[in-house]
Amino acid sequence: MVKISNINTIMAKCNICGAVLEFELGEVLSKDEILGYRETLDCPKCGCISRDRGLIWALSNCMQKETPLFELKNNQNLKILESTGLRTYPKILKEKFDYFNPRFSKFTPLLKMFPNKYADLQRLFFKDNKFDFVLASDIFEHIRLDDDAFSEIFRVLKPKGYFLMTVPFNYSLEQTIEKIKVIGNKDIFLSEPEYHNKGVKDGGDSLFYRLYGKSLFKKLTNIGFNVGYLRIQIPKYAISQIELFFCRKNTLPDLEDISSTNLVLKKEIFRS
Ligand SMILES: [Zn+2]
Repeated sequence: MVKISNINTIMAKCNICGAVLEFELGEVLSKDEILGYRETLDCPKCGCISRDRGLIWALSNCMQKETPLFELKNNQNLKILESTGLRTYPKILKEKFDYFNPRFSKFTPLLKMFPNKYADLQRLFFKDNKFDFVLASDIFEHIRLDDDAFSEIFRVLKPKGYFLMTVPFNYSLEQTIEKIKVIGNKDIFLSEPEYHNKGVKDGGDSLFYRLYGKSLFKKLTNIGFNVGYLRIQIPKYAISQIELFFCRKNTLPDLEDISSTNLVLKKEIFRS
């Protein structure tokens, strides 16, 4: 159970490394609900943040019902693709599964020669129907041609596979706000450019192209995905409110099975 003490910590279990520890809330926005800690609540043991635990919660639910990552059965036949997975959970995924975690590159020869090391989701050098899971943790807001990237993920995903995504998303927006208009090779800025980690060489300088609104569902179903949308908050795992997208090719995502109602703040299914 969750104990919220008066020193702004929350007792919880990390569903990645299994540690049961006090997680610091940091800048307190709301103590009753642990809203607003999507990018924080760092696990004192493994260093993963709330968003990582949300994504891994989605992944483990698609495999073995909410089993923490460190307890999932090893299966080296299970192929998982992520692009630029950060912090420590990729190491555990690598130990258990056939996990590909290539870093972004634009350089075509590298993409072709070392697809396990370098990838551009807009043009992947993997064969069709290769992966059981594709993970995307807050990267689509930075992808210039997101339709191309969604289509490529659709292509490389196995028919019964899952594409699991987190992304900055505003449910109250009908339409995605495009911050940059993309025309041919040109980027036309419609508002002040916004970056992640500006000036940081390694993985930094990620430009924000957009903030997704509900038109994202249409975008995904147009590509052929059936989309399950969950907004969750799981204090026992120190998972602050987060939106999860469960996308499948031919099958509907089984959200009934995935979620017990008290954790789920919103649930919807969109068919292709
Ligand atoms: Zn941990």
